[in-house]
Parts: sequence; C-alpha cells; structure tokens
Amino acid sequence: MPRTTSNKGLVLIVEDEPSQMELLSFNLTAEGYNVLRAEDGEEGLLLFQENNVDLVLLDWMLPNTSGLEVCRQIKRSKRATDCHVIMLTARGEEDDRIRGLDIGADDYIVKPYSIKELLARVRSGIRIRSAAKVDDMLTYGTIKMEINRRSVTIKNSVISMGPLEFKLLQVLLESPKRVFSRTQLLERIWTDNLDVETRTVDVHIGRLRKAIRAVNNEDLVKTVRGFGYSLDNIS
Ligand code: CA
Repeated sequence: MPRTTSNKGLVLIVEDEPSQMELLSFNLTAEGYNVLRAEDGEEGLLLFQENNVDLVLLDWMLPNTSGLEVCRQIKRSKRATDCHVIMLTARGEEDDRIRGLDIGADDYIVKPYSIKELLARVRSGIRIRSAAKVDDMLTYGTIKMEINRRSVTIKNSVISMGPLEFKLLQVLLESPKRVFSRTQLLERIWTDNLDVETRTVDVHIGRLRKAIRAVNNEDLVKTVRGFGYSLDNIS
C-alpha cells in the first residue's frame, strides 16, 4: 500500500457491505483523509484500540457485534475522549436515533445518504475533534506534555527539544507501551515527505533520548530489537 501524504485526519470505517465500504473509502481518500477499514465490529474495535483514530463511521447493522455495541465500547474506552463517532443506518426511526445518541454516538446519518452530506458531516466532526484537542495534555508516569503550549516536563523539569522530537514523543505518549516500527513512526511524523528514510527515525530518537537524559537518568525510550521503539515503563 502506498504511503499517504495526508494529515487531515484518520477515519475508521466499520461497514460489512463491500459496495458501501468502497464508496466511503474512495470518497474519503479522495478528500485527503487516511482511512482504516473494518468489515465487522470486532475488527473495528481492534483497529480503534491500535490507532489514534479521529473519526469513526460506524454501520448500525453489522454481523455479530452490532454497531450500537461497538459504539458503546468505543465510548467507554480511554481513547474515545476526542474521537467523533457517526452512526450509519438504514433505520430512520426517531427511537433508534435517540438510542444511538444515548450511548454516546456524536452524529447519525440515515441511509441512503448523499456522499456530499456525509463528507460535510465528517469535516465538521473532525473540526469538533480538533477543537477539543486544543487544551489536551498527555501524561504518562512523570512525563507531562502540553500540546498547545509545546511544553514537556519530567518530574516538573522542562525538557527542550526540536519539533520533530516533540512529535515523536507525542506519538509515543499517545500509546504508551505500544511498540512502533520505524515505518509506523515515519508515517505518523513525516507525513508530507515521502523521501525520508527509516534511519532518520533513529537519528531523531537519538536526539529525543539525549533531550530526556539531560533532565532524567533513566532511558525512557526503549529499543525493541529488529522492530522499533516504545515508551518504557517509568516510575
Ligand atoms: Ca450493514
């Protein structure tokens, strides 16, 4: 799969009908979104937990786990704080709409929908999500990152670092303990540049470690040999 150059947002589509999936996936990709595809609720939940999803397009009628249940689980999870969920359904009854919104869906679109309207709702959902993120603070152990202030502290000591090291640490902090391959880090951070090589990641990880070591003796960024990096357990 070719690497995408977009950072407009990551949309997870959970839809069991192949033609619907193609339609949504094609149009969202054309609009510049990154797209993840799941054919059922279980796969959808797995992809949601493994990725930093901005918006979920969730079909109501799915085999096994229903869209309603998937939505409930997404909204219960820690990662859901700033993720926008749009339910897609053939059911247009008021009761269903209310049930969907009751369990935390942010929006609701009745099939058949116009793709233009759907794209407008996605745009607005992502905008809401970005607005909620402005004051976002990421913390893990003694590390604190204030994204809007571009500030990082460990045990209240300020760490100074370059913008790429900041983005690297942000990605690691968003999923602590998750192991990222070099390619995954490249895709998250150097989204606009396809010419960057994976060893560039090593260089910036090195700089990030150095910046952290300036205020903290423990090496917080762990190397997973032959695979990549993760944020280590810290006290
Ligand atoms: Ca369906």
